[in-house]
Amino acid sequence: MTAPDLASAASVLDLASKVVDAAVGRLAATSIDANQVLAYDVAHAASAVATGKGLLDYGGKGETEGKITCAFIADAVAELAGKVFGREAEWGVDAGALDGARDFIATFKAPDFVASITDPGPRHLDGDFELVQDTFRRYAEQELAPRAEHIHRTNGDIPEDIVEGLAEMGAFGLSIPAEYGGYGEGGEGEYIGMVVTTEELSRGSLGAGGSLITRPEILARALMAGGTEEQKHEWLPKLATAEVMNAVAVTEPDYGSDVAGVKVTATPTDGGWLINGVKTWCTFGARADVLLVLARTDPDRSIGHRGLSMFIVPKDRGDSHGFELVQRAEGGAAGGGKMEGRPIDTIGYRGMHSYEIAFEHWFVPAENLIGMDGGMGRGFYY
Ligand SMILES: Cc1cc2nc3c(=O)[nH]c(=O)nc-3n(C[C@H](O)[C@H](O)[C@H](O)COP(=O)(O)OP(=O)(O)OC[C@H]3O[C@@H](n4cnc5c(N)ncnc54)[C@H](O)[C@@H]3O)c2cc1C
Repeated sequence: MTAPDLASAASVLDLASKVVDAAVGRLAATSIDANQVLAYDVAHAASAVATGKGLLDYGGKGETEGKITCAFIADAVAELAGKVFGREAEWGVDAGALDGARDFIATFKAPDFVASITDPGPRHLDGDFELVQDTFRRYAEQELAPRAEHIHRTNGDIPEDIVEGLAEMGAFGLSIPAEYGGYGEGGEGEYIGMVVTTEELSRGSLGAGGSLITRPEILARALMAGGTEEQKHEWLPKLATAEVMNAVAVTEPDYGSDVAGVKVTATPTDGGWLINGVKTWCTFGARADVLLVLARTDPDRSIGHRGLSMFIVPKDRGDSHGFELVQRAEGGAAGGGKMEGRPIDTIGYRGMHSYEIAFEHWFVPAENLIGMDGGMGRGFYY
């Protein structure tokens, strides 16, 4: 059986790096706007090369690790070659720039070689994270995987005992600092814990729980970045225990990647704000107790992302197959605001459910603007 060859992997990556550098040089000399297709391809290629370089260390840790590394690099460089082929002038390289990678690719992209990698490979995480990995892997195998098919076939909801089980295990507080009721200890580790947990849960099922903790993660990050102390003490402990579950309402029908352009408005009213407009792809929006909504607080659209602020928008739980909520008059608000959620049938993501959500004069109390006065126009950054 073919043995991994990390020395060759490193030199193949050097060739790929040179190709990427040449194209980056061309982009720098012209403009990204004028060369969008090249910029897009180069961005993918550069991240593949960087990942390959990062893997070389990992590859040296054992036979399986070495095989995974060589297979990845062969695949990434073959893909780069496909992008460059026939467009060498655009990339600013010679026609044979990647010829030196041919043997390596033939060896490590060979179906037999790839098929011989049957083990996902040890991750060599720091001690505590191995424990996190094992714990959530076990949970995913025992609790998520056996129920995933039923949830999918019936377009069902995530059973509440899964939310409770994960909350008991501390999954929702992994990146919330201990002083706010979570288990985070600061530093890069916080992210790793959350990533490892999400990966393990998703191994069991994405729709039945794999992406449950990413939403509170986003809200917690926004609060840590811009929330007032009062807001942090109010919301973070509740997020950490899943007493409050949230969804994220950023995307709109005409604005996905281009978040800076979103149009949903928040206009000041007595004691708070009124939200109007339509969000889409709001995952978990029915079950959620609050929505994290990015809205335009400055009517001057020409200031783009600087006119956006972030709100924690309370709501009742709704039926996962579609919901229509009408706001009661309370807390000084006139009431009558409406929120309507229309489900988007999403293959592979049932259980979580995603929604288009229309807001009509939905009232949000003033204290739910993240950062209060200091948070005005800061939503995009949070
Ligand atoms: C299953 C699912 C769940 C989701 N859940 C949520 C959620 O909970 N909350 C939420 O707010 N959103 C959610 N989203 C929305 C998601 O964040 C958007 O789909 C994403 O931001 C991309 O936006 P878009 O779909 O409008 O694609 P577009 O922005 O239209 O992009 C289409 C393609 O064009 C490329 N592209 C875009 N801009 C450029 C550019 N300037 N240069 C080069 N290429 C570009 C993109 O890479 C992509 O390949 C969800 C989406 C899905 C599919």
